[in-house]
Amino acid sequence: MIDGSQGEGGGQIFRTSLTLAMCLGQAVCIENIRAGRAKPGLLRQHLACLKAAKEICGASVEGEELGSKKVTFIPGEIKAGSYCFSVGTAGSSTLIFQTILMPLLFAKDKSEITLQGGTHNAMAPSFDFIEKSFLPLLKIMGADVDAALESYGFYPIGGGKWSATIYPLEKMHSLELVECNGITEQGAEAVSCKVPHHVTARELNQIKKRCCFSAENLQQRFVESVGPGNVVSIYAAIYAPVKTHSAVFVAFGERNVSAERVANKAIDLFEKFHKAEVPVCEYLADQLLLPMALGSGGVYRTTEPSQHLLSNIDVIQRIANIDIDLRQVNDLSWEVRVNQRLFK
Ligand code: ATP
Repeated sequence: MIDGSQGEGGGQIFRTSLTLAMCLGQAVCIENIRAGRAKPGLLRQHLACLKAAKEICGASVEGEELGSKKVTFIPGEIKAGSYCFSVGTAGSSTLIFQTILMPLLFAKDKSEITLQGGTHNAMAPSFDFIEKSFLPLLKIMGADVDAALESYGFYPIGGGKWSATIYPLEKMHSLELVECNGITEQGAEAVSCKVPHHVTARELNQIKKRCCFSAENLQQRFVESVGPGNVVSIYAAIYAPVKTHSAVFVAFGERNVSAERVANKAIDLFEKFHKAEVPVCEYLADQLLLPMALGSGGVYRTTEPSQHLLSNIDVIQRIANIDIDLRQVNDLSWEVRVNQRLFK
């Protein structure tokens, strides 16, 4: 029994439990789902993750409904195939992807998946984060996954679409991301749809002013989407010690918030990360745990642990019987070591 109210008390405990259940072929029951949130229980986005997980492994499920606070999930055999998963709202489609990625990597054949919903959401990995940060590190671990964005989906309308091809794993390698040889290649992109063009220009101007990026590394893009939206992303290539991935920090345009303040949010995240001189950002830190725990372990350095990281460590240790150590290295940096699975 997994208590969804522990630690962070959010949707991640639920999704991590589903992924582990599928990969380990082990039933799981999660209670008090998202008890730490204002609207507890399964929202549409979490229900979409449950439905996707059920579909790829023919699981038997109890509690599959909106608002459900308790779910029992008994997985069957994982089946590769062509799948289409839709959130049905602007909820994050990348979180569905992360729920089913590891099981489909362990399947016997390749899978083609189409995802619909939000592609650039606050408080979830953006498509760009998946493409530039998460998947390059999975590649180093031995996972071959191609992802392509078809259309952007912004809150509150959603309607984004992207696809991924997931090839079966041959072998997983351990990941070592300890060094960070300074950040020299950096840039920013401001994307908008149905928003006045001066907004993205001002966002980039603010980044130029505060971060001193050169003009050729600042890009403005106007895209098609069902609804309006604006996202600004700062990228930094990470050499650990050879180039491994890009760190990605995003902020979203909001009504009554100036373009400069939006840009400042992304800049503050970037500067905090830059100062710590670590290769792994706060968000990657919790997202790398599952692939490392289900693969060959490894070690990485990151910034101050988030509640997401602490909760994910706890759930993974509990369900998968894996030893994960966290130690503080200095004022700004922490080290996470994921040991190999201890078979019971
Ligand atoms: P909740 O239960 O909080 O309503 P949820 O189910 O959407 O929400 P959380 O449990 O909060 O999700 O997990 C969100 C995930 O999104 C975490 O893995 C976190 O690292 C990731 N995330 C949040 N913000 C970002 C960001 N800016 N860039 C990349 N990843 C992010």
